[in-house]
Amino acid sequence: MSTQTVEPKATSSVNLVQIGSIEDLIQRRLREERERLEKEAGFVKHETHHFKRPAEKPFTKEQRAETTLLFGGLTWKHEKLVHGALEGLGYRAEAVPTPNVRAFQTGKEYGNNGQCNPTYFTVGNLVQYLQNLEEQGLGKQEIIDRYVFFTAGACGPCRFGMYEAEYRLALRNAGFDGFRVLLFQQSGGLSQSDAEAGLEMNLDFFLGILNALNCGDVMNEVAYALRPYELNSGETDRVLDEGMDYLHEVFRKKRPWKLEGGMARYLGGFSDTAEYIGKFVKQLKGDEYLPALEWCRDRFDQIDIDLLRVKPIVKITGEFWAQTTEGDGNFNMFNFLQREGAQVLVEPIGTWIMYMIHQVVQKYKDFKGLEDGAVLPPIWKIGTRTRIELGYRQKVAKLKLAEAVFKNEYHKIVHALGSIAHHLTDQYELQRLGHPFYNSRAGGGEGHLEVAKNIYYSNRDLAHMVLSVKPFGCMPSTQSDGAQSAVVSNYKDMIYLPIETSGEGEINAHSRVQMALGEAKNKAKKEFAEALQKNGLTLEQCRAWVDAHPESKRPLYQVPHTKGVVGGAANFVYHIAASMKTERN
Ligand code: SF4
Repeated sequence: MSTQTVEPKATSSVNLVQIGSIEDLIQRRLREERERLEKEAGFVKHETHHFKRPAEKPFTKEQRAETTLLFGGLTWKHEKLVHGALEGLGYRAEAVPTPNVRAFQTGKEYGNNGQCNPTYFTVGNLVQYLQNLEEQGLGKQEIIDRYVFFTAGACGPCRFGMYEAEYRLALRNAGFDGFRVLLFQQSGGLSQSDAEAGLEMNLDFFLGILNALNCGDVMNEVAYALRPYELNSGETDRVLDEGMDYLHEVFRKKRPWKLEGGMARYLGGFSDTAEYIGKFVKQLKGDEYLPALEWCRDRFDQIDIDLLRVKPIVKITGEFWAQTTEGDGNFNMFNFLQREGAQVLVEPIGTWIMYMIHQVVQKYKDFKGLEDGAVLPPIWKIGTRTRIELGYRQKVAKLKLAEAVFKNEYHKIVHALGSIAHHLTDQYELQRLGHPFYNSRAGGGEGHLEVAKNIYYSNRDLAHMVLSVKPFGCMPSTQSDGAQSAVVSNYKDMIYLPIETSGEGEINAHSRVQMALGEAKNKAKKEFAEALQKNGLTLEQCRAWVDAHPESKRPLYQVPHTKGVVGGAANFVYHIAASMKTERN
């Protein structure tokens, strides 16, 4: 019995060995034959080397004093304040300069093919900065050891998700293999758990960066709002420089609030929670930076302005980086528009932060507290269902609170700077306007925002023209281009111009903008003429009223908005007429 069972096994393993060697033989012959045929056809065989994340040494706390944190990608105003905030937190920091065309070419040289425009500009900019350090005499290894780059990351459907890998690939190709890239995940919210010890992404860090970004946003907008009306050319920039230097010092000198001494000992195990709450309360009171902003406000208010200048207001929208950068990345569009006589309405970074919170709220609402792919438990499992429902409501409530706090903090800055800048646009309103044209759940890039902002700013008397700067090779921007055709055909009066930005083609883009701006200028002039005519006034009479009321020449002078009127000068005429009437009675 036992011999009968052993024999077939021995036979089968012999057979398997034979089959195995026949299979090997077939594969070998196939390979040889393929190689022969490829050789005959003259094919050159390339080895495929997939890019793998290079090993990077960690950035540790001990290295902090000797390591410089590089960052960039915003305007110089935001970067200056972020720089101050990082230094206040104890980091050595440096902002990389605004990317230029040379950075774009460097990005193309060292990066992958087929990337979107901002990838080339920003990746090339970092490589260029490091190359400059090398030219100044620093060795490659010294640069790798003493510098780290800190940037935002994401895992979204657009190429933003690939930035980290792109930075690393280009750095490796440029000879900076092992250079450290630290990520602040766009989708990670407030708990950046994978933070490396050298860079502590804690509450102090987030509050410092958010305050810096918000102050940068509002200072930036105030300067753009005043510059076209200044009587003495260059005065706004001079005051802006002065204000930014002052704010930078305030951020640099600010130290995170800590619970110390007897109180910390008294609270014992609760001291961490108490410190956390204390930091929030300190933030909400805003004692540290509000007086500094009021100081800047008083300087801005000394600029002499002429509000009777007729200026078309151009709202900038588009892709996040392209609509923010102030350089070659968007053909220096803001300077160009100002030179051409427009008032530029820039987009605050705050809108983007609100959008990110809003998208998470929408996601929670859609999933109703269920994990991705999970199924709602049957109705009789009341306990489980209640737990899911409560968990979901709690998450949404927390985010709604975050939305309210962020908005409140931002608006506090707007008021401290004289209420010249706009409040943040309501995300629920943007969703309501944009969703019929672009599904608000479609993520990536600006999502439905581009479409929604076009409608919002054109229909709310906020801009004569909307200019959307869309990077070459941007997938979400291309999608929203399709939807904008439907928007424009529904809103006949809007002047909307999309411009594709790239490393070249500046003259062509400027000439297209000039044409659309011509229309916007006519619109603004017509509106002003109508305002004079409806109120039975002449420009000279308006000027005489202004001379008799010198307070109206000050930037902080509040001109009420008249329904259906966009331009500052036209609104001013309605206000002058109303004031004259009151003074007569
Ligand atoms: S939104 Fe467009 S331009 Fe911006 S990272 Fe994504 S694909 Fe690139």
